[in-house]
Amino acid sequence: MTEPIRINRSTTRKPRPKDSDLGFGQIFTDHMFLAGPQKHVERMNSSARRLCIPPLDADMALSSIVRLVDIDRDWVPGTVGTSLYIRPTVIASEAFLGVRPAKSYIYFVILSPVGAYYPEGMAPVKILVVDKYVRAVDGGVGGAKTSGNYAASLFASDEAKHEGFTQVLWLDGVHRKYLDEVGTMNIMVKIGDEIITPPLTGTILPGVTRDSVLALLRKWGLNVSERQVSIDEVVEAHGRGKLDEVWGTGTAAVVSPVGELAYKGRKMVINGGKIGPLTQRLYDAIVAIQYGQAPDPDGWTLTI
Ligand SMILES: *Cc1c(COP(=O)(O)O)cnc(C)c1O
Repeated sequence: MTEPIRINRSTTRKPRPKDSDLGFGQIFTDHMFLAGPQKHVERMNSSARRLCIPPLDADMALSSIVRLVDIDRDWVPGTVGTSLYIRPTVIASEAFLGVRPAKSYIYFVILSPVGAYYPEGMAPVKILVVDKYVRAVDGGVGGAKTSGNYAASLFASDEAKHEGFTQVLWLDGVHRKYLDEVGTMNIMVKIGDEIITPPLTGTILPGVTRDSVLALLRKWGLNVSERQVSIDEVVEAHGRGKLDEVWGTGTAAVVSPVGELAYKGRKMVINGGKIGPLTQRLYDAIVAIQYGQAPDPDGWTLTI
């Protein structure tokens, strides 16, 4: 079991400036956001289990991140929209050739200050629905955050990029019919009043952002279903004018609006190619929690 998160409160508090003294990107608060890393540590260990990698001590993994961010706190960018991206990784380090679980591993964490993901505002992306390649199959490792899944995805994304698309939408590996993920993000579609996202059956990555978005949608009293949704249902809904919004969820972009889906040579423009109101509301709500501008009732953030 994981231990409770230790919160390191800042020992000094700056006086809060008057609103009239605020500029843009010049004043910073006492604390920074860290993406509730406990869930990420748990996921790292569930991924490790599937790959025969010994689990990390959860408390050690958490405090390694907290300490590293603390030491490198000068690197945390302060402008709205920027962040410090945290990338913990485990690799095998044994000098051995052969197929079996390794006997030694290295766990490392790197930090990367990143600019605003959407410097010019959120731009909806064009997505190609692929039925020629698959990313993961039932019973495989699609639910683990492992580099092999990215390797499996590169060729299809390359082809999609050559055809002018930003990313691909993966269908399930068995029927090539049900929506799985979009690029390296979980996918959600709004058809009429229902918001649908594929269930966690082991082929898709259990995204932490997916969890947060589902929690918000439920809190807002919206109709959310974790169920299989076929590409035919999406095409049919688009034909009826009911495919209101489509978006991806993931740490880097938070939510990423899909403005166009292409499937079997047919183009489906969503919400006139513009970001939908619910996508925008989700983005605003999560970012406000991340920046400490909105209350965090579920303990998603951790201050250092
Ligand atoms: C990381 C990842 C996601 C998103 O997970 P978050 O925890 O929300 O960042 C979704 N799909 C894939 C394939 C991923 O690698």
